Amino acid sequence: MTIKVDTASLQAEAAKLRRPRHRTREVRVGDKVVGGDNPIWVQSMTTPDTHDLEATVAQIHRLEEAGCEIVRGTVPKPQDAAVLSEIRRRIRLPLICDIHFDYKMALAALDHPVDKIRINPGNIGGYDRYRQVIRKAKERGLPMRIGVNAGSLERELVEKHGYPCPAAMVESALRYIDIAESEGYHDLIVSLKSSDVLTAVEAYRLYVQYADYPTHIGITEAGKAPYAVTKSASGLAPILLDGIGDTIRISLLGDPVPEIAAAFDILQATQRRVRKPELIACPTCGRLEIDLEAIIAEMEKRLGGKTTPVKVSILGCVVNGPGEAREADLGIAAGKGKGVIFKRGEIVRHVLEHEMVDALMEEIDKWEREEAEHGRLGGEKSPFVDGGKLRLPVLK
Ligand code: SF4
Repeated sequence: MTIKVDTASLQAEAAKLRRPRHRTREVRVGDKVVGGDNPIWVQSMTTPDTHDLEATVAQIHRLEEAGCEIVRGTVPKPQDAAVLSEIRRRIRLPLICDIHFDYKMALAALDHPVDKIRINPGNIGGYDRYRQVIRKAKERGLPMRIGVNAGSLERELVEKHGYPCPAAMVESALRYIDIAESEGYHDLIVSLKSSDVLTAVEAYRLYVQYADYPTHIGITEAGKAPYAVTKSASGLAPILLDGIGDTIRISLLGDPVPEIAAAFDILQATQRRVRKPELIACPTCGRLEIDLEAIIAEMEKRLGGKTTPVKVSILGCVVNGPGEAREADLGIAAGKGKGVIFKRGEIVRHVLEHEMVDALMEEIDKWEREEAEHGRLGGEKSPFVDGGKLRLPVLK
């Protein structure tokens, strides 16, 4: 069989595969605006008893140092609600209080200067109690996350749909959105979490067909790293590449600090939020002609802390090196003990192996200055406002 290739229609079909960002309303959470064209904020959750004030605040500071942008703490007891004002006073991040089962804890938490409340309406004790929480959040001018979870769906919905499937989860979310709207309350963020990757992906895809409240995305109870990071990436990548997601949390067993780097890496790899250089390196093989591992280790060290979204390719031999280097913003195509540096597809200099790292760093600095002069480095928002290869998502 001969397949006839029509270039124009191939390109048109390919263009359709790039999903635009799902249009969502903007909801303010402290100093962050979630939804719309805003960055996909990275959040995490504290692990000490919330009423252990020193331990909770210390962990929030460690999370902030790691880059966390919004933090959540659980409020299961009155003594946890009692310390919320003091926690808020001692941290800079927007603080979310997380409530399960007891609507009175939600009402108590809302007496404090928190920035958002997260409840699971399916386990809060019925519609009347849910309405009471909505009314108080509205009165306080605070947003709320409706956290639907496959593991705690209303029994009636599970029976109706047969099992806690995506349709049942979305029906639950829409039901609680409807009630909130009937109270004139629209400051909602929605999550549809499952520990099952397929269920979570399908639930988010289904949800966006019905509503435009921003989404908090995550694969719940992913377990222990490193498998948990791979599992989270497996679920979150299709969701993000579909243009879904306004804030993200990676759930890892134990210390939450590593969640932050994992979340940023997933956002970077899916090009939804590019905030550091992208280093492209080959796996090496018998053709290798330079000490690539040493060069990459040194480059990683020197690039640490840089936020420029520059794509740098370093490949170990002439097989793919020149092609990759031409496609990247900057790249080295290596040969035996030497190489050529490409910038925006053009050869700019020849270097020996021992000069490669210094030369590449000089070229990166130059590239940054040139991009800045042309107003192409827009800081945190640059992935969202610029086109181009790496800064892909003009997510309209
Ligand atoms: S770029 Fe060269 S050295 Fe690297 S994996 Fe490919 S063939 Fe091997």
